[in-house]
Amino acid sequence: MKEVLKDLLKNSRSDYFNYPVSAALVTDKEVYYGVNVETSSPAAGICAERNALYSAITKGLNPKEIKEIHVMSKTIGAPCFICRQALVDYCDMSTKVYMYDLEGNTKEYTLNELCTHPFSKENL
Ligand SMILES: [Zn+2]
Repeated sequence: MKEVLKDLLKNSRSDYFNYPVSAALVTDKEVYYGVNVETSSPAAGICAERNALYSAITKGLNPKEIKEIHVMSKTIGAPCFICRQALVDYCDMSTKVYMYDLEGNTKEYTLNELCTHPFSKENL
């Protein structure tokens, strides 16, 4: 997975902040990929994690089927809090999140560990 994500980084459009990120969402049947797309106005861009999630949803995936989330960037970076919100809203909290840097270092958490006090549908 690390080599695939490293290769996918070349498709990132990190023209503004120079922070390429690639992500993969793994189910029992398929893998869905995404890269970040930066724009001059940060809010108009999208992170790799949400790009992969929304692409998977577009293809008809029930995000509860996602077993693993893999993310690669220059440094080990956890999904930002906007992505965490989207992941909490659609994925199972037991989903594993693997984060890698370019040297191959890895950190592993569950979505629940990354979001110990989530805001969710139950709060509405
Ligand atoms: Zn994000």
